[in-house]
Amino acid sequence: KVVVFGSFVVDLMARSPHLPVPGETVKGSVFKMGPGGKGFNQCVAAHKAGADVVMITKLGKDSFADVALGTMDELGMTKESLFYSDDVETGIALILVDENTSQNEIIIVPGACNTITPEEVAKIENVIKESEYVLLQLEVNQDANELVADMANRYGCKVIVNTAPYAKISDEFLSKAYMVTPNEVEAEELTGVHVDSLESAHEAAEYFYKKGVQKVIITLGSRGVFVSSDGREEIVPAFKVEAVDTTGAGDAFNGGLLAALSEGKDIWEAVRFANGLAALSVQKMGTTPSMPKLEEVEKFLKT
Ligand code: ADP
Repeated sequence: KVVVFGSFVVDLMARSPHLPVPGETVKGSVFKMGPGGKGFNQCVAAHKAGADVVMITKLGKDSFADVALGTMDELGMTKESLFYSDDVETGIALILVDENTSQNEIIIVPGACNTITPEEVAKIENVIKESEYVLLQLEVNQDANELVADMANRYGCKVIVNTAPYAKISDEFLSKAYMVTPNEVEAEELTGVHVDSLESAHEAAEYFYKKGVQKVIITLGSRGVFVSSDGREEIVPAFKVEAVDTTGAGDAFNGGLLAALSEGKDIWEAVRFANGLAALSVQKMGTTPSMPKLEEVEKFLKT
């Protein structure tokens, strides 16, 4: 069993001929609403890939919460570890897209999932106790992440930190992580090393090792993934595919990695699985709907 502790937000996407400037109202052409948030996306990816995974997040008592609940019901995900805020709304992401240039402007309001209390963290002790891995991101209130990491360390549940979106994190928090999975931008922001080769990736990995992290994975978009584990370091190339929507590629990768690790695969096999899962996801529009099922990933990896 594994856990994702993280964010849920409703993605509200509007396309228009151009992005509004301050004070302007623009008539848009398309509106779409769907589940999002890094935590939720990663959990859906892991669940669709066959993992026995529990989503822990916090929702508001409003109709946007139903977007999470509806998706979880549809996919057969467990809802046993959700919290609800009495006064804060479910998180949202307002995504404006210019239909000509595809440029976007995004405002994320994490809302309820940014208000997870120590009392709520205390209630997930049994789930953490029974789990082999917990996957965290940096999209919920960080004090809750720190408490979960502490608890996980106490029970021998390994902590994977996907350092997204970039935020300053303490050395103490890093020391509780078994594995970190920044993308190249976050890796540079955290370590100061511009990652563009095996050598520079090694240097970035050394930074994390000094903080007490045991395994380092740096995702490099269409170039693939840098993996550093037990003295072996490689850049595993990405699968060559026709990408139509790479938003959520990192979420697909992290969810796939968690699913594969929970199956007992070693880190190299797990990265191959996650790489394949992410490559499938970038070939479809959308985030959670583009996450492939286990059979699709297995079939893709065989060919
Ligand atoms: P993020 O979405 O967090 O920026 P990346 O862009 O590094 O993350 O992508 C995460 C992973 O998704 C990559 O390491 C790779 O496995 C896969 N991926 C991303 N873009 C592509 C692509 N164009 N083709 C194939 N795989 C991709």
